[in-house]
Amino acid sequence: MTSIIHGSATKVQRQDWQTELKNAFRCPKALLNYLELDSEQHLPGAEKGHQLFKTIVPLGFAKRIEKGNPTDPLLLQVLPSKHEAIITQGYSADPLQEKSYSPVKGLLHKYHNRVLFVTNGLCAVNCRYCFRRHFPYHENNPGKTGWLNAIDYIQQHPEIDEVILSGGDPLSLKDSTLFWLINQLAVVPHLKYLRIHSRFPVIIPSRITSDFITILKNTRFISTLVIHSNHPQEIDDEVSEALLKLKHAGITTLNQGLLLKNINNSSEVLVNLSHRLYQAGVLPYYLHLFDPVQGAGHFDIQDKEAAKTIIKEMMEKLPGYLVPKLAYEEPGRAYKVTLSPFSP
Ligand code: SF4
Repeated sequence: MTSIIHGSATKVQRQDWQTELKNAFRCPKALLNYLELDSEQHLPGAEKGHQLFKTIVPLGFAKRIEKGNPTDPLLLQVLPSKHEAIITQGYSADPLQEKSYSPVKGLLHKYHNRVLFVTNGLCAVNCRYCFRRHFPYHENNPGKTGWLNAIDYIQQHPEIDEVILSGGDPLSLKDSTLFWLINQLAVVPHLKYLRIHSRFPVIIPSRITSDFITILKNTRFISTLVIHSNHPQEIDDEVSEALLKLKHAGITTLNQGLLLKNINNSSEVLVNLSHRLYQAGVLPYYLHLFDPVQGAGHFDIQDKEAAKTIIKEMMEKLPGYLVPKLAYEEPGRAYKVTLSPFSP
């Protein structure tokens, strides 16, 4: 595969996913320069946010951002900001109290029949609103030995029938490591379902390798990939092509989005997102309300009624299967809470 240098290539050729991740923008200055945004105006705030949560933005994603536009909806998701230093009352570093649901390192057991593997702390992009932006990955990144301990825990809990690979992003693992982990999990007889939550297909679509598809096709599990996209501008032709490969391989792919202020809090944007997803073989699944994580309060629309109105407007313009469920999590609840747009 051919490598390219940021900003200098006239003809862009595809990189393999690991090269693209390695070459991602990791400082706000380089990103602002590439996007032709005024450093004097934007850099001080961006540096402040970057100190709190590092910048990672792959070139392929940066290319979908409109140059010179500081309010681009994709840019706002990934450019650090001075607002991240604001302490908001009632917000928390661990808004879902996940620490209290971790019986062994790297495993979260929040819901009766399913567990979540925190496979590692690396992502394809650092989303500024991430509810795990303060998550202590260094304490929960047990590697293969720790994963075997987590699998022992699952062996002892016959009520668990589904494993969700999460992170960070599980697709930042190499295919050979994923293959190893899925095979170890497949030994547990009461496990039936495998779910992978990943933003890679949207951020670095070349991550959908033929080896990865083969792993999902050949496992004994019924498997589902849940991607994360918030805006139709994220789904360009390359992303669509990668997602359609999954569809043609018969792999169920769903989308979870997050309702974000100034990014997608309009039915028009979300209707377009549903169309783009469906055209790429993906069904909208959840639209999450914001989890009150410290440092990201500026993304919170703080208005459940406005969220319900958006869903009602979507229902007027879309068939039911393209309207995502409006949902949020509450610590201590054994399920996600879904919000009817017609509830008082
Ligand atoms: S990809 Fe997911 S886990 Fe990673 S920073 Fe974004 S929201 Fe958080």
